[in-house]
Amino acid sequence: MINSKSEDITFSRRIIVKKCPFCAEKIKNDAIVCRYCGKEIPKEETPQPVEHPKNKLNKYLGVLEAAGQIEAVPEQRGIFYRYNGSPS
Ligand SMILES: [Zn+2]
Repeated sequence: MINSKSEDITFSRRIIVKKCPFCAEKIKNDAIVCRYCGKEIPKEETPQPVEHPKNKLNKYLGVLEAAGQIEAVPEQRGIFYRYNGSPS
């Protein structure tokens, strides 16, 4: 029988490090000021995916279509959407 020693499992906290852009020393990812050269670390900005307005609209229409609110009607000039929301 395998004895599960759950108390032995310890999560070793992994410290994410990054390189200081000024002195190239390894510093903590959360560091605001480099501990080696004392310079302020520019905050890393996570790039936000820019959503094209047209894609946004298509997404919205896709949601409505999935909900049965509208119906996609392919026509020569493009796809038209028929609103099924209220019964006629
Ligand atoms: Zn530094």
